[in-house]
Amino acid sequence: MIICEDVASLKKLLKDYRNNHKSIGFVPTMGALHAGHLALIKQAKTENDIVVCSIYVNPTQFNNANDFTFYPRTEKEDALLLEGIACDVLFLPSKEEMYPYPVHTKFSFGQLEEVMEGKQRPGHFNGVALIVSKLFHLVAPDHVYFGQKDLQQCAVIKQLIRDLFFDMQMNICATLREEDGLAMSSRNKRLNTEERAIAPKLFEALCLAKTLLLENKTPIAEVKQKTNHFFEKIPAFKLDYFEIVETDTLMPINTIDLTKPTSLCIAAYVGEVRLIDNISLFL
Ligand code: AMP
Repeated sequence: MIICEDVASLKKLLKDYRNNHKSIGFVPTMGALHAGHLALIKQAKTENDIVVCSIYVNPTQFNNANDFTFYPRTEKEDALLLEGIACDVLFLPSKEEMYPYPVHTKFSFGQLEEVMEGKQRPGHFNGVALIVSKLFHLVAPDHVYFGQKDLQQCAVIKQLIRDLFFDMQMNICATLREEDGLAMSSRNKRLNTEERAIAPKLFEALCLAKTLLLENKTPIAEVKQKTNHFFEKIPAFKLDYFEIVETDTLMPINTIDLTKPTSLCIAAYVGEVRLIDNISLFL
């Protein structure tokens, strides 16, 4: 695996691959890699000649200084994991490489920014779009890979690719979970033993809501109420939101339409750590 720490060497390397007609798959990450990340890279390996993974904890997408400070950083272990699955290139830039001067360009994603993560984390998707655009320009991949775990991020990036004519195909990969159902996440590393033990309640609540909606035909308002009660009984949890949305637009719905893809999305603090998760209603 070749490790590039600066933009110039990455560009030169990738230009050589492109001149040799190699297809490039790209997986952007913030590191502290787990099996969910590795699944994206493995999928990219099957569909491209060369796979590039980037690891960069992007400051502009954090709207909470503590979250940025305490975000796990495990570059050495990450590099070993990537070597182990034969990733071809690791891009590991510094802040000076990615933000050599202050950026003033702003992105707006309309309605997508007014719900869930967009509403709870002002400026978050602007920061995501900024770093992803920079990385897309540098890597110029044929295929990019993102996780369904970050459903709203997928919607924002899909819109970004379409709006800005980025010439690449986007692939969305299923969420990988621990055996107890907890969605794998770099932030799980920050949970203490007690928090880790109750964190799967997030997925449990989603599954419970899905059963209520599909099997018991419980109305959405009542399902939301029951989900709120579910978390009120667990003091270590603070529910940020629980939404039932149309998967394509991410707009919250009031009644279930069996013909439209629908997702259940949740965000909650477990102690100091904010976790998100989602499942499809009909799959
Ligand atoms: P992150 O490092 O959290 O920015 O994630 C990098 C990429 O990995 C994003 O596209 C995430 O959606 C994806 N990802 C994170 N967790 C998982 C998971 N449990 N299963 C599948 N993909 C994931």
